[in-house]
Amino acid sequence: MQETIGFIGLGIMGSGMSRNLLKAGFPLIVWNRTASKMTPLVEAGAQAAASPADLASRSGVIITCVSNTADVEAVVLGENGVIHGARPGALVIDMSTISPDATRQMAAQLEQKGIHMLDAPISGGSEGAANGTLSIMVGGEAAQVQRAMPYFQAMGKTITHVGGHGAGQMVKLVNQILVVGNALAMSEALLFAQAGGVDLEKTLQAVSGGAAGSWMLFHRGPQIIARDWRPGFTIDLQQKDLRLVLGEADRMGVPALVTAQVFNLYRTLQQAGLGSEGNHALIKALERLTGLEVGA
Ligand code: NAP
Repeated sequence: MQETIGFIGLGIMGSGMSRNLLKAGFPLIVWNRTASKMTPLVEAGAQAAASPADLASRSGVIITCVSNTADVEAVVLGENGVIHGARPGALVIDMSTISPDATRQMAAQLEQKGIHMLDAPISGGSEGAANGTLSIMVGGEAAQVQRAMPYFQAMGKTITHVGGHGAGQMVKLVNQILVVGNALAMSEALLFAQAGGVDLEKTLQAVSGGAAGSWMLFHRGPQIIARDWRPGFTIDLQQKDLRLVLGEADRMGVPALVTAQVFNLYRTLQQAGLGSEGNHALIKALERLTGLEVGA
């Protein structure tokens, strides 16, 4: 059965993901708070909705990719939200990164109206969203995961059903610990290379293919050397994820040493007004401690 997909949130990630759904041939309806961001998708063949409720009333599957927990709650449960338009049997797939606990509560609230939910947060950056190569970590019922699989396959490459409601978000937080650990190591390494007077491009070339290589180093290392701070993922959103990690770690009683350190370094950059720069601008926090500038 060909289901119509409704997509809410056409930001850095959602714009690429929705375009890939369209390219794969799925009928698509879009809604974005800032209406102008719908224009390129409409020009490519999507229909525009007037509100999340309107979108949900015309869709079998509703995907959300907005910023934070409160924003998902607003578009799903708020005034003119998805819950007011979706038909029983509809499936809501939240691909934002939000609180695992709030996810479980939202799934329960939707279930009372006969609406299914999956949490399916993503990793792979703006490049992964544009190229359809995202990693997608999915929480929820197996039958709904199977239903959503063709849509996931249009947007991603590594799709893993990791458990029940909220489990996708929990695994995404695991992902974020690894991401910021990599970012901190990359920052420290590049600053060390700069201080050591070695050629930065050659250094990247030398270490990227060995045991030290990573997605972060491959994609963001060259951006740092070029001092290009355009965001694939903003510091403000990264900080939101680290807050979620620290909250869960506190609740569970486990240490989160690297996460706490990076959280505090990002805080100094937010205070300096750099929250909308890319998360690789983490290196600026270390530069400020040393007086050195990488690639300058
Ligand atoms: P973004 O470019 O800042 O886009 C955010 C989107 O959410 C925009 O469409 C924005 O609408 C919408 N939005 C925010 N608050 C809203 C509200 N209260 N009501 C309605 N719409 C609202 O962010 P992004 O980078 O695409 O990230 C989206 C989600 O994916 C986040 O949860 C993020 O953590 C996650 N993520 C991002 C990346 C990445 O590399 N960028 C990677 C993995 C996961 P407007 O256009 O009106 O502002």
